[in-house]
Amino acid sequence: MEAIYWVLTWACHRKCRHCYDDRFRPYVRDELKRVVGEGQRAYRAVLRNLPDDMTFRDPKTGARKRSLIVLAGGELLIDGVREELFYPALEAIRERWGDRAPHVSVQTTGDVLTPNRIEAMFSRGVRTIAVASIDDYHVGLEGEKKFAFMDDIRAMMAPFGAKEIDLGGARDERLKAKSPATRRDAMGEGPFFLFFGAQPELGSASCGRADGRGRTGFPMRPMRRTFARAGVAARTS
Ligand code: SF4
Repeated sequence: MEAIYWVLTWACHRKCRHCYDDRFRPYVRDELKRVVGEGQRAYRAVLRNLPDDMTFRDPKTGARKRSLIVLAGGELLIDGVREELFYPALEAIRERWGDRAPHVSVQTTGDVLTPNRIEAMFSRGVRTIAVASIDDYHVGLEGEKKFAFMDDIRAMMAPFGAKEIDLGGARDERLKAKSPATRRDAMGEGPFFLFFGAQPELGSASCGRADGRGRTGFPMRPMRRTFARAGVAARTS
């Protein structure tokens, strides 16, 4: 198995009109506890049922490589989710596979990133932080705002030595990585970060609906396919 896209929780701090599922939204008080509790029960069950060997055979070289787990919400870094569900799930992944753990990538909208949270993720084995909101559909990031937002995140990543991966589809210079990776294999073990979104110039899609239409019929361009169903839900985005 090469990769799993794993939605840990429905809880999100946003309620985007283009989101592919109405369950991704803000929850408060008991409702938040309920939805986080659902995620807590699910991640333990999912981990128990994943294989002991989380590697796959590279069809090009025949070599065994570590699989990838992409963790996403909703938003995993918000209060009520971060300490209660997300960090314990990261720790449980390391406990389950130790030195043979799959690579872990985390998808976030990025507006709730802080240096402490970045440190908390990298120190718990996260290899890549993927900021998935670089488009005009996420309120507050429309137009030029997204470019300033990207530079703020680049500055936040710098003290951690995190390298920016360029997905290669950007047609606007401001969306391209400043020092883009050409081949991830040649970049070492990380940590890494990257940007994507449902921006036509990026040639990719964000955490919006997978079939290319949002809740209200916004056209979206799907970027990534679901590899396996796991946890509360699995999605393409
Ligand atoms: S599109 Fe992403 S940020 Fe917006 S509500 Fe859905 S999961 Fe949350």
